[in-house]
Amino acid sequence: MELGIAGKRALVCASSKGLGRGCAEALAGAGVDLVMNARGAGALEEAAEAIRAANGVAVTAVAADITTEDGRAEVLAQAGDVDILVTNAGGPPPGMWSDWGREDFIKALDANMLTPIALMKALLPGMMDRGWGRVVNITSQSVKSPIAVLGLSNSARAGLTGYVAGTSRQVAPHGVTINNLLPGIHDTDRADALDKGVADKEGITLEQARAKRAETIPARRYGTAEEFGAMCAFLCSQHAGFVVGQNILLDGGAVNATL
Ligand code: NAP
Repeated sequence: MELGIAGKRALVCASSKGLGRGCAEALAGAGVDLVMNARGAGALEEAAEAIRAANGVAVTAVAADITTEDGRAEVLAQAGDVDILVTNAGGPPPGMWSDWGREDFIKALDANMLTPIALMKALLPGMMDRGWGRVVNITSQSVKSPIAVLGLSNSARAGLTGYVAGTSRQVAPHGVTINNLLPGIHDTDRADALDKGVADKEGITLEQARAKRAETIPARRYGTAEEFGAMCAFLCSQHAGFVVGQNILLDGGAVNATL
């Protein structure tokens, strides 16, 4: 399917690996020029070069921590006007409800709620002036179905979801859509880190922890960054202009709900 966004410019945050990279690759495949970001310069440059070489699009790489004010300022300065924004950052650590204090919550809120909000606040006005824009926030299936050990993530992402629900309706009259993509378990470093925690706790191997988790998913497998990126690119396409303020699950059926 022709997505109709060749020549557009996208900022894809936290995109040297995993789901962010999947989104960057799919957008580049549709002819979109990219501004990519991650903290580690080495992996970021490598990813940028691979995407440039494979797709012939322009790729600017900005190594910075997107969850800090300075990092965001640097990324936004180099990004300039963008038509498409994909927000993403690392997820908060797992733990126990009784262990988290104010500082833990502030950190999680900064990374997974206030950072995407700050990026939208900076970039939505330009999109609205130009009469076209797409925002996709990478959140989590935990917005629909809580993952108890990820209470910091459950809380911060629920806050972002509430913000998007209202804001998306305010910017829609200007040709700008905001939607959230909710990953269930996907085959990335983040999934490995979470599975390793389970393996260590239960005294089993990483492969066993993974197989056990896959058994709980109706699709009986983990999702891939490529599948995730394809859905992101569709939401950023010309065809998705009527999709406003939605929370779209990509979870292999893991959330057991009718709606
Ligand atoms: P990942 O494979 O660990 O990749 C994370 C990417 O983000 C890397 O490129 C990393 O590069 C970059 N990054 C992390 N923190 C950053 C920061 N502060 N500033 C800029 N870049 C940063 O993770 P993932 O699996 O793709 O997950 C992406 C998001 O989806 C996370 O918030 C995660 O919690 C959420 N999620 C994932 C799953 C899953 O199954 N994978 C499920 C539900 C939700 P650097 O380390 O070099 O910065």
